[in-house]
Amino acid sequence: MARYTASVCRICRRENLKMYLKGDRCYTDKCAIERRPYPPGQHGQGRVKFSNYGVQLREKQKVKRMYGLLESQFRGYFARAASSKGKTGEMLLQLLELRLDNVVFRMGFADTRAEARQLVRHGHFTVNAKRVNMPGFAIKPGSVVEVHDKSKKILRIQEAIETVDRRGIPQWLDVDKKLLKGTVKTPPNREDLTMPIQEQLIVELYSK
Ligand code: SF4
Repeated sequence: MARYTASVCRICRRENLKMYLKGDRCYTDKCAIERRPYPPGQHGQGRVKFSNYGVQLREKQKVKRMYGLLESQFRGYFARAASSKGKTGEMLLQLLELRLDNVVFRMGFADTRAEARQLVRHGHFTVNAKRVNMPGFAIKPGSVVEVHDKSKKILRIQEAIETVDRRGIPQWLDVDKKLLKGTVKTPPNREDLTMPIQEQLIVELYSK
């Protein structure tokens, strides 16, 4: 499957937003967006004026990259959100938040979503006591996500849970840090998502 292989810090600089894609480094003064707070590339420091379409496109790219998805996957989530009850933009964010890799990241078992995705693929997590290795697995409210017994000693997971307090665990999740286990209490509300996202722009883009 195609995947993004260039520097992830370029993504933050392109979207002018600290997306915390690199774990520990994001909390140090080595963070690229702190050092070079302008878009990457030869013309990065020039003045850029976006059209309406450009603004909508950048917002979609930002959210897509934040969750580490390809265009086809992202469009799939949008189609599901558009066909469900509720506001399309909010439903889109909710579907993205309820992906297993994101839940693992939010619970603090991984430093980044990319790391969470890899850990899930390697079969280190169970959902309701069954091993699941699909990062996009849709978690339902009430589900219990747990580090597999054989994986509880993995250093990356232990280090991640020790440092989770610097970003905090959202209130729609309940996590037992000692047992490396968490429950999805409710679906996330719009207010639970604190990243600056204007989902309406994505809806406008895809509704053209
Ligand atoms: Fe983004 Fe800074 Fe982390 Fe790089 S180090 S991914 S620029 S937040």
